[in-house]
Amino acid sequence: MIDRLSRALDDGRGLRALVVQVGDLARMTRLLHGLAPTSAQLFGEALAAAALVAALRKDAERINLQLECAGPLRGLFVDADSGGNLRGYVRGTAVGIPGAPAEATVAALGGSGFLSLLLARADGTFYRSSVELTREPLAGALRRWFASSEQVETALALEVLPRGDEPLGQVAGLLVQRLPGGDAAAVVAARGAVAAGAFRDALAAGAPALGLVEAVAGPGFELLGEQEVAYRCGCGLDRVRNAVTALGADGIADLVATVGRAEVDCEFCHAHYVLEADELRELERRMRAGH
Ligand SMILES: [Zn+2]
Repeated sequence: MIDRLSRALDDGRGLRALVVQVGDLARMTRLLHGLAPTSAQLFGEALAAAALVAALRKDAERINLQLECAGPLRGLFVDADSGGNLRGYVRGTAVGIPGAPAEATVAALGGSGFLSLLLARADGTFYRSSVELTREPLAGALRRWFASSEQVETALALEVLPRGDEPLGQVAGLLVQRLPGGDAAAVVAARGAVAAGAFRDALAAGAPALGLVEAVAGPGFELLGEQEVAYRCGCGLDRVRNAVTALGADGIADLVATVGRAEVDCEFCHAHYVLEADELRELERRMRAGH
């Protein structure tokens, strides 16, 4: 199945729902970043979470989901845009805690720290809000973020299900929210259904997106559309030049004299960029000419 985000609406009850499946992304990023099992599971959950928030906040051009925690994971970062493009990295890549995966993620987070979301609008303005982590899974912290920052009651699930020997068989997220004037009791009931395992069970049974939504929030939804989600990094030599420019003309001259070149690794996709001395001198010359 291709990774995708699906939107659904129940007009009658005033509910909206999003479902995202990122199993391919989670497996690919495990290889890309060399993640041990618990790091890989949490990063998969964070990819799903960021895709949901980015899809929900149409006013944001991109969102950054950042986690800083006391546990061995230490932190992670996901950058997502409204076009379904995701990228990110994990600080503690080698976390593999034995036992039940869901409990392992709670131990990896360590019970304190914060979850922060930055929403960047097209006009260049930002909105950042955070919640403190308690001893809980990532979905719990994100649910509290919706309650405190968005003032919206939300039913939310992040699930990772094995398939055979593959621990990241399915990585999925679901969100149900009430539209203005919508049925508040239905959201409460959907939260209860998530807690009782309805999303997990429907995923395990191979339900399609609409079936996943209705397993949690009941019948009456219409599928509005689907969007592909993919891991895409927008890095390139231009960004490396910009980063080097931040050193200033004297800093670049120093770099040429001492190292002779600039090497930059992209933390999102591990692309390796090299600016040779000739190009650095040219950058320096242009900067001095600009002063
Ligand atoms: Zn990159």
